[in-house]
Amino acid sequence: MEFKDFPLKDEIKEALLRRGITAPTPIQAAALPLALEGKDLIGQARTGTGKTLAFALPIAQGLEASKERGRLPRALVLTPTRELALQVSGELQAVAPHLKVVTVYGGTGYGKQKEELTRGCDVVVATPGRALDYLRQGVLDLSRVQIAVLDEADEMLSMGFEEEVEAILSATPKERQTLLFSATLPSWARKLAERYMKSPVVINVVREEGITYQEEAIPAPNDRLSLLSDILFVKAPKRAIVFTRTKAETEEVATGLLRLGHPARAIHGDLSQTDRERVMRAFREGEVRVLVATDVAARGLDIPEVDLVVHYRFPDKPETYQHRSGRTGRAGRPRPWPPEPL
Ligand code: AMP
Repeated sequence: MEFKDFPLKDEIKEALLRRGITAPTPIQAAALPLALEGKDLIGQARTGTGKTLAFALPIAQGLEASKERGRLPRALVLTPTRELALQVSGELQAVAPHLKVVTVYGGTGYGKQKEELTRGCDVVVATPGRALDYLRQGVLDLSRVQIAVLDEADEMLSMGFEEEVEAILSATPKERQTLLFSATLPSWARKLAERYMKSPVVINVVREEGITYQEEAIPAPNDRLSLLSDILFVKAPKRAIVFTRTKAETEEVATGLLRLGHPARAIHGDLSQTDRERVMRAFREGEVRVLVATDVAARGLDIPEVDLVVHYRFPDKPETYQHRSGRTGRAGRPRPWPPEPL
């Protein structure tokens, strides 16, 4: 998929093209469709992955131009450092020429930034300390914020900005969309997710980049499930089947995927005929995109062709493996055995 296929305004697409940006990076491919729908997201990604555009584009798309003097900001981006704030502002302004972006940071006089804020703007990119100062002085009014972004949340934590960030978020409307980006997910990030976000979808592209990751920093208790979720986000199949070994696990995986924002349903022998038919109809019609099944349950079903088969657990026998993979409509092609572990 390329940017021209995304639901973005023509002027945004042109701005991207001018910078030679045509295809999304993995974090953008995974985050943009959800962010553009207004979902809350936790994006686990480092600098250099294209994470800035993953939040800059939803801001550019979501906010209409305005000329009103003294208008209040409708988007807020918090960053740990002045350098990052300036860099983010630059990228944002480049893809959103219709918006007025004001950068707010410490280590410099209060007057000029105050004047810019008072004149009115659409987006504020700020470091937390100075933003809180202006908030307390009544210079910064966040009551109209529709999108709040925490960029490099783990860095803001290590610089001791927890209280500032929380106070600032509390000054924005509850209905806002919240996007959090962080290379690691310390417990504070989880606390923020619980307190300030609405059922956030976690997108993790850290492994995509081939960076070895520390076990303790992986947020989901079930790592296999979060990896499956990443694969589904990145591959974005129209229809996928995930094979597990037990009935209990089909339920567990389907529920876990639903929680992470995937339209998934389980199918197993304990479902009534009516329920089974309902799930299969939804799968055929594209309402359910991920079917989580045991081999036994899948055997008797008239399953439409799928574009992704995931072996969540290895089958016992090579025949079963081939039977599963045949679901992609490419049966007969030689496949390696044993398969690569998930
Ligand atoms: P970031 O991780 O947001 O700091 O981005 C790193 C660099 O990649 C920036 O210079 C971006 O302009 C550039 N970039 C972001 N997205 C893309 C893309 N889809 N294609 C090419 N370059 C990109």
